[in-house]
Amino acid sequence: MKGTVHYANMTPAELEDVSARFDELFGERGEYEFVPQPELKGGFIAHIGGRTFDMSVSSRLSAVRGAMTFPDDPYMNAEKFASVLAERTEKFKFDGLVYEYGTVVSSGDGIIHVKGLSGRRYGELLTLADGGVALALEISDDEVGAAVLFGQTCVGERVSGTNRVLDIPAGDALLGRIISPVGDPLDGKSAPVCHARRPIEYPAPGIMDRKAVSRPLQTGLLSIDSMIPIGRGQRELIIGDRQTGKTTIAVDTILNQHDQDVVCVYCAIGQKASAVAEVVRTLQEKDAMRYTIVVNSPASDSAAMQYIAPYAACAIAEYFMYSGRDALVVYDDLSKHAVAYRAMSLLLHRPPGREAYPGDVFYLHSRLLERGAQLCGDLGGGSLTALPIVETMAGDISAYIPTNVISITDGQIFLESELFHSGMRPAVNVGLSVSRVGRSAQRAAMRKVTGTLRLDLAQYREMSVFLQFGAEVDSATAAMLERGVRKSELLKQPKHDPYSLADEVCLLLAAENGVFADVPPEKVSSAARALIKRLRAVCPDVLGAVSARGDIDEEIKARLLDEMHRGMRRYGA
Ligand code: ATP
Ligand code: MG
Repeated sequence: MKGTVHYANMTPAELEDVSARFDELFGERGEYEFVPQPELKGGFIAHIGGRTFDMSVSSRLSAVRGAMTFPDDPYMNAEKFASVLAERTEKFKFDGLVYEYGTVVSSGDGIIHVKGLSGRRYGELLTLADGGVALALEISDDEVGAAVLFGQTCVGERVSGTNRVLDIPAGDALLGRIISPVGDPLDGKSAPVCHARRPIEYPAPGIMDRKAVSRPLQTGLLSIDSMIPIGRGQRELIIGDRQTGKTTIAVDTILNQHDQDVVCVYCAIGQKASAVAEVVRTLQEKDAMRYTIVVNSPASDSAAMQYIAPYAACAIAEYFMYSGRDALVVYDDLSKHAVAYRAMSLLLHRPPGREAYPGDVFYLHSRLLERGAQLCGDLGGGSLTALPIVETMAGDISAYIPTNVISITDGQIFLESELFHSGMRPAVNVGLSVSRVGRSAQRAAMRKVTGTLRLDLAQYREMSVFLQFGAEVDSATAAMLERGVRKSELLKQPKHDPYSLADEVCLLLAAENGVFADVPPEKVSSAARALIKRLRAVCPDVLGAVSARGDIDEEIKARLLDEMHRGMRRYGA
């Protein structure tokens, strides 16, 4: 064993004794370098084998000073003071002063390296000298690399372990609140009082804990609910270039949960404060905050804060899932999360791999998204649906992060700039979007009316390319194009205006049965809205029945079609 012993006011015989005691402790003969350090005022501080033994007078004095500091208390009187003093004296013992701490050897960009701190675990919280907190992320033989969450530290200062991992308050008190990834309020109100706390990292439910996804999560967006249905407990990626309406789809989905008993968590990672403010304003205006929690780590936060944000959001949603409820969590977006993690990893001196991301960037997202699940009945049957968002560059879905997240999730909704700018909003590319498990969760009514929608749209897109060259088409193709253009127009939907299940069923039924055949394509969208309005006024009972049962029979179908044809004739007139 090798080590250094700093000492003050000790005789050679006493130092001899110290060295003999360390030999006894470690069971071997050690080589110790003795360095005088008068600031210790007496005693010694030894750094041996990654541990620090503090038996110095200066540390004892500061401990005594700490024990004898009393907070300002207006009700303090002699009697109370005596009792506090007695209590402190009882608690304060000198014999426990051998403790471990490490020393900061480098500090910069929110990352510190600490020497002499042994026995720490990955993800453990460390306490800094100023009371701040750091997260241990890189553990090696004699050094710990950590990301500072709060507080500041400089080289030479002490850091100690806490044997605790990071956790966050979770519970109903968070509903309607905007919080930071460590649970601090960001909305200017008092700190939320929750009775439960959950660790931000938690193992994903195992195979036996899960059940197949079987209940739908309606987004209220016709193109998604009809062709790329999402089930509760599914992970569906929203992917696309910048400014293609990714956030809008997620927010619309949250808005549509107003009567669905789903707790929503919106996690903003590395976004502009103005963009988050806009989302919050929309949620407030539509009265969606009463069932929504916003976890925000803006671009101005440290990389470490942005790194923990989605895990914290997931932990909050998990609280609801494990208490048997349904939760939806939106991660907006995981590209920025990966970038924050890359910055941290490079500063921690981890070797960079493809696109300079560290080797474990797949695990970064897989362990997060695997926590999405539909739990089995024994565990309460709750669910956690995840809608991660990933931003692509120039539509390149084969870049590193997009391919990773595509392979982890149960499908993706691919948004295209070209469609978005041509006015097709939401700009869903039907060909490249899939939902791998949602189809079995789709309501029977929806399945019955979707028909050949996907095929028609695909054919229409393909053929419309030829039309641009002014090609002559035969009558069958012309009819197909007519149908395609109307269906494609029908899928256009303004933002923040979700359809109910019954609305969607009626519109698809109408499109499938040629109700819009005489409406000029550019008017289909407004005709559809007028139609829904009319149906709501004329036959609310039928719409109610469709919503309640989630199914339609021939009789309802006939009645709806009859009503819609009549409505369309009026609209035309
Ligand atoms: P960013 O890459 O900046 O995060 P984004 O992909 O999340 O962007 P949004 O912010 O959702 O995109 O939308 C971009 C713009 O398009 C916004 O101004 C939004 O209001 C508008 N928009 C999105 N969807 C629709 C829609 N269905 N109808 C009309 N406007 C829309
Ligand atoms: Mg966005």
